[in-house]
Amino acid sequence: MNTIEYKIHVDKIYEKIESARKLFDAQHIVRIVAVSKYVGCKQVESLYNIGQRTFGESRVQELAQKSQTLQKLPLEWHFIGNLQSNKINALIDLKPYLMHSLSSLELALAIDKRLRVKNQTLNALLQINSADESSKSGVELDRAYDIYQQISSQCENIKLKGVMSIGAHTDDKLLIRKSFESTRAVFDSLDGATICSMGMSSDYELAIECGSNMIRLGSAIFPAN
Ligand SMILES: *Cc1c(COP(=O)(O)O)cnc(C)c1O
Repeated sequence: MNTIEYKIHVDKIYEKIESARKLFDAQHIVRIVAVSKYVGCKQVESLYNIGQRTFGESRVQELAQKSQTLQKLPLEWHFIGNLQSNKINALIDLKPYLMHSLSSLELALAIDKRLRVKNQTLNALLQINSADESSKSGVELDRAYDIYQQISSQCENIKLKGVMSIGAHTDDKLLIRKSFESTRAVFDSLDGATICSMGMSSDYELAIECGSNMIRLGSAIFPAN
């Protein structure tokens, strides 16, 4: 795609977001994290050139490579993947703008310990396994509120900003909707939470209708040429 074709492609996504967000609330604002894990730096730059500034990666090594290669560009990098404990230091050193995938109290305590040593803070979202799927990371829906409070009080250097969830892995729209609505309900119960990260390429419109204010788009926003 040339620049004009790419702009048209992305504009279609913006239009869908615009329709969906109005169904939730006239004042609702949605941010897009462009997930670049399937593409290279060239494609990140193409999207940057038509206005995108926020990008996400699910592996620490990829995040390191892309953010270093593109360090001259004013980009905001998010980490969205499962974090193995032997990668904690590496992630902290990259100073990501936001970690979406804080998936347990144990992980939070381990990260907080390293943050204290380095005298750094990290913005993070608590990942909720809202459809209770064994294939997914994250805290149980019923325990999310309590664990959020525990992390807030025990992990001084982690700055919790809200919640993240991956929609139920099914074709049943009602079940997907339920997973988003229950995540949004937890978000609404949290004092001071500002980010509700839900929705990927296949389900972002539904997620926004249910109150997502941050979507993570990979394949939809990076078309296979
Ligand atoms: C890969 C990934 C995405 C983007 O996936 P698409 O379906 O390509 O939009 C979003 N969130 C997480 C956590 C991911 O791992």
